[in-house]
Amino acid sequence: FDPSTATGTAVVTGASSGIGAVYARGLAEHGRRLVLVARRAGRLEDLAARLRAETPAAVETLTADLGREEDLARVAERVAAPDVDLLVNNAGINGYGPFARTEPELLARVLAVNVVALTTLTRAAVPGMLERGRGAVVNVASLLAFAGSLPPDPLPHRAVYGGTKGYVVTFTRTLAAELAGTPVTVQVLCPGLTATEFHLTRGAESVPGHEERVHDEGGMPAEDVVAASLAALRSGEVVCVPGLTEPEALDR
Ligand code: NDP
Repeated sequence: FDPSTATGTAVVTGASSGIGAVYARGLAEHGRRLVLVARRAGRLEDLAARLRAETPAAVETLTADLGREEDLARVAERVAAPDVDLLVNNAGINGYGPFARTEPELLARVLAVNVVALTTLTRAAVPGMLERGRGAVVNVASLLAFAGSLPPDPLPHRAVYGGTKGYVVTFTRTLAAELAGTPVTVQVLCPGLTATEFHLTRGAESVPGHEERVHDEGGMPAEDVVAASLAALRSGEVVCVPGLTEPEALDR
């Protein structure tokens, strides 16, 4: 799948900020049709207006809470439409906090967005892509998928988040094996610490040491993550950013 010459529509979830917004811009520069999905309508509209003004892309917005069944069904319907040739399943929430104190509502929301929505949208996308003989799906996981610990801190309070990202890796790799030899590419993207709004704890408890680590290390620009993903889209595979091979990520 070559993102620079593809002519179909790309659907990007979590496009209102961070990696998703940068991904949308990266695709818009190739003059594609885009569908931007997230809950914050104002942020989506602002980005859409900027992309229409500054790039050759045609941009739609789809305001939806992927944790809500009705909204997810609407997005799945758009993803299954015959013009869609790229799905970037990027929306995700962290739900950090001590497991024993995690509110059931937060637990349900993290699983719904990070696991159920990503899987449901992949299911909506793939059959039509197979039928039409082209298409790609990018599923955003995390380096946290590979390890219970990363230096310098032992990263407690991320069991649910890390678990959902482990699911994304295994789901996507297993699907990639199933789709090998078809014209549909699936990629799992595993960023390390990236400088986005993700680290403002929204609705979750803060993790000891986390804010300090984000402050000290800053995180890489989302542009690096997107560039690595786009460069690897021709082959699928597991893409870890910055530049780690999977065994290196496993070693950390
Ligand atoms: P942001 O918080 O900036 O972006 C998250 C995006 O997901 C936002 O656009 C948000 O939009 C959207 N989103 C969250 N919940 C929902 C929902 N219920 N329905 C629809 N959209 C939703 O963080 P990042 O850009 O960093 O995160 C993007 C992905 O990258 C996530 O999957 C994250 O797990 C992953 N990641 C991030 C890392 C980092 O260090 N930043 C490292 C590794 C992976 P809105 O609030 O408008 O709905």
